[in-house]
Amino acid sequence: MEISEKQFKNSKAYYKEQKMLEQLNQLYNQVPGGSCTGCAKCCTEAVQAFYVEFLNIHNFLQRENLLEAYEKKVETHYFSELYKRQDCPFLKEDKSCAIYPVRPLVCRMFGHSSYEEHEHSYQGIREMNEEVDQYFFDTYHVHIPEDVKHHKIEYCRDFIPEKVLKTEKRHDLIDRLFQMDTHFLMEEYIPEDAINLSITNWFVYLQYSEAEASKKRVDEFLKNVEK
Ligand code: SF4
Repeated sequence: MEISEKQFKNSKAYYKEQKMLEQLNQLYNQVPGGSCTGCAKCCTEAVQAFYVEFLNIHNFLQRENLLEAYEKKVETHYFSELYKRQDCPFLKEDKSCAIYPVRPLVCRMFGHSSYEEHEHSYQGIREMNEEVDQYFFDTYHVHIPEDVKHHKIEYCRDFIPEKVLKTEKRHDLIDRLFQMDTHFLMEEYIPEDAINLSITNWFVYLQYSEAEASKKRVDEFLKNVEK
């Protein structure tokens, strides 16, 4: 997987032509706000984002002259993610979000799901992390550190939504983002399997092919992990 300079340039032009920013904002506006203590405990890992959301974030960082700084930060985060537990690369020291006006849907919907839904989705992450750990142990005879493998964003009981966002509505919003991304797939601006990746992956695939990124990630892991 890799996004070439030409594909990226064309996808930015397509995003503008199709007025995707307006569509995105119209969709985001359907997520009710709520009262939050600002503890930032939900910002303790890099989140998933659709490609259309990544383009929105990229444009925002460019406009704010923050692109270069965050490209570096995101890259460092990505290549050390397997051996070092880290907060979301966009979380600032004062616990605010550097990309708050353009943050992805998943951040906006945090706190709207039930305890059962939250735990179910964590279970999937846990299983995936166990599989990655097993792979590293079988292949390189080292384990992923426990705090990385078992990191969990706890269910938030402090957020009080202004209005209930039903499960069907949440799924509908996700589906609509998926549909927006299928336009980029059909135009061949992104590869087939590039749907809803971690926000860090999108930045890295602009600079590295999947094979290069994966090799560098493993090399960094083996250099830094405690044996
Ligand atoms: S993008 Fe912003 S709101 Fe979302 S997890 Fe990162 S710091 Fe938190």
